[in-house]
Amino acid sequence: MTHPNIVQKSVRPEHRWRLGLVAAVATLLGVGGAAAQSPGPASPTASPTASTSPIAGVDAALVNDIVIGSRILAEFGVLDGFGHVSARHPTDPNRFLMARSLAPALVTSDDIMEFDLDGNPVDARGRAVFLERFIHGEVYRARPDVRSVVHTHSPGVIPFSVSKVPLQAMYHNPAFLAAGVPIFDIRDKFGATDMLVRNAAIGKALADSLGDKSVVLMRGHGDVTVGPSIKAAVFRAYYTDVNARLQSQAIALGGDPTYLTVEEGAKADATNLVVIDRIWNLWSMKIVGASR
Ligand SMILES: [Zn+2]
Repeated sequence: MTHPNIVQKSVRPEHRWRLGLVAAVATLLGVGGAAAQSPGPASPTASPTASTSPIAGVDAALVNDIVIGSRILAEFGVLDGFGHVSARHPTDPNRFLMARSLAPALVTSDDIMEFDLDGNPVDARGRAVFLERFIHGEVYRARPDVRSVVHTHSPGVIPFSVSKVPLQAMYHNPAFLAAGVPIFDIRDKFGATDMLVRNAAIGKALADSLGDKSVVLMRGHGDVTVGPSIKAAVFRAYYTDVNARLQSQAIALGGDPTYLTVEEGAKADATNLVVIDRIWNLWSMKIVGASR
């Protein structure tokens, strides 16, 4: 908030009446003070987030971030009716949290469930669960550093999942791609399948392909991104898709694109993780109408 003294010193006398008029109109419209800082719900429907957590021992903010991540990726077309966002349980590393089986754009905090790493729901209460939950459990098992996992079928990445052209970092936001992007081909170990990660063995093979990277493409299917927080994993899912679309454009221009080096990527990724709240607050505002 601007200090009143600063306002008086910086505003010329002939402009003060205009500020007074603006203030009067704002009062009539009820948009002054705290209301102006918190724009309110983005839609007339109830907020998809809640102040109380549906999972005992888990902070509501963590559950809400799963909801925000799911919905924002759906809004940007990175997720459609399929795909999911999960988070490792904050105090039990052998459990994770993700929504019951429904479209990401419809997820609310009440839909978030708890699972063990084998993909068994802790308290199903008759709710349907995602077939591909084994992606999440096996990645958490293989990567103690990972706090969040996102699985998408995003249109931008599909061409790179089936092409010999490697996905590479085009610019600083998707810098994590510079470390390398492996491709998991389910056919290598499991022959002809329906392409889905429908059991723990396939999930483990996928986690093996991911290795120590931030993203793995899945041939003819989509991708998995991981991060040290929900914000980071969602950020990476979004920018993997953006990067893939831009790289396709750069290739179409002809010539030989110049990509970020591994060193540039490592430096830029470290910076991105520091400033990630700036874009996360914007995304939160779009979903729940309030920045945090
Ligand atoms: Zn899938």
